[in-house]
Amino acid sequence: MHIDRGHLLGSVLHHRQAAATAVFVAQKFEDLLGRVPLLGRRRSVSFHATFLGAECYARWQAMTEVERASPPGRDNRRADQQVLWHPPRRCGNSCAACSRSCSCIGAFCVADVSADEPDPALDRRHFLIAAGASAALIVGAGGTRAQAQATPPASNSGTTYTGDVIDGKRVVSALDVNDLEPGSVHRLYFRGVEAPTGQHWLVSVTVARGASPGKRLVLTSGVHGDEMSSIHTVQTVMNQLDPAAMSGTVTAVTDVSRPALESMQRRWPNSGRGIDLTDMNREWPGNENGPTAAGRHAWLLFNRLLRPNADYAIDFHTGTTGFGVTGFNIGEMRIPEIRAMMELYPVSQIADNPAYPGVLHNAFIDAGIPSFCPEVGAARGLDAELISLFVEGTMNVLKHHGILAGPMGRTGADVRVFVGNASFPVLATAGGLVEYLVKLNDPVEAGQKIAIQRDSFGEVAAEYESGVSGEVLGLRSDAMAEPGNPLAFVLFAEPGPREPETYPE
Ligand SMILES: [Zn+2]
Repeated sequence: MHIDRGHLLGSVLHHRQAAATAVFVAQKFEDLLGRVPLLGRRRSVSFHATFLGAECYARWQAMTEVERASPPGRDNRRADQQVLWHPPRRCGNSCAACSRSCSCIGAFCVADVSADEPDPALDRRHFLIAAGASAALIVGAGGTRAQAQATPPASNSGTTYTGDVIDGKRVVSALDVNDLEPGSVHRLYFRGVEAPTGQHWLVSVTVARGASPGKRLVLTSGVHGDEMSSIHTVQTVMNQLDPAAMSGTVTAVTDVSRPALESMQRRWPNSGRGIDLTDMNREWPGNENGPTAAGRHAWLLFNRLLRPNADYAIDFHTGTTGFGVTGFNIGEMRIPEIRAMMELYPVSQIADNPAYPGVLHNAFIDAGIPSFCPEVGAARGLDAELISLFVEGTMNVLKHHGILAGPMGRTGADVRVFVGNASFPVLATAGGLVEYLVKLNDPVEAGQKIAIQRDSFGEVAAEYESGVSGEVLGLRSDAMAEPGNPLAFVLFAEPGPREPETYPE
């Protein structure tokens, strides 16, 4: 299903009160929104309302689908996402949709750096951000770039070793898996963004380089720091690989958002006004000189580690703290290569939805790399049963791409798979303890009562029902809820694009 974000935006622009409500709700419940498709659309609406000027929108709206898919002078990112990435005002850049000067609001101006070749000198590029949307100057960027252009690279290698070795593992600031010895497993650290102490966040990289050439698959987890089953799934896949018998390469990074993982929380603790929490899965493909450490870290990983080594990519997640989900894959089934991979998993649900702008798997797609996102159950713990299903599906993907030989395991054809393209949110309207009358994966009918909430006296404060027929995709796992908390999401099949809905507050 194609989500007509432009249509949604049009409604928002004409109903600014509704836009403000949507933005408020999206921000208020950002943590719990997780990756739920319906709210994702609302989230994307809020971005457009913030960053896209009315003129740009009008032109974008008038474009054909083909034009939107190919913004002038740009790569193959979707037009609506391209608009998201263009730097804010006073940057001198033009809108990808209309080529006019950007009319968005913003307090930051950043360098438009298109070169992404590994260049250690660029690591130290300094930048100055002038808040207040007045004079914003880039210091050092032009000079550094000029220097880089004047000095040809020493070799064609895409791998840069920093010279550091930690616990016997070499540290790289850029990686080309073709530089590694075939037929072996390689364990490295990749040097990510610089932290307030002046040290860098290192992430763990495992590369199983096959003895024979072939496709390259990238597996990631830990973009959110509280999603343990996703990490274990990737680790288990890597531990089952024998590079001597492989044709191709599998690269795994299990701890993408290191500082979030250190405290096992969803978001990256950005050093700003005290601690700002940044959802790293709204930051991709990152911004080298952006205002958040998570965004700069994303840029480094995406451009120097992940994208250069991926023909296909899978970014593993789970539900979030306080909100559990089933085991399912989320991705766009309209893209045949993505559909083929998702259907190789013996898991019970597929959410056929593009999810949010800014998530890692969409950044891969925008770079021409088929990608999707498995959700391996609940956050914080390890779900051995679901992990085994996602490991089996991932091994199937490796066989599908010829990286591994051997018979397929169980696939989606061997289990009952419910496919939906939208998610109906059930939001709390009262405070109190919530008792559920349904479980994850249960089928529900429109109008079916799914939860009862009691106040502090034990009296019934609210009863909740599903507005659609579908299957339970997610349930709040924290038993106490306040008005506005999402209590449940019901995955369902939507016949066509819908108007944005208004949430009660
Ligand atoms: Zn996640």
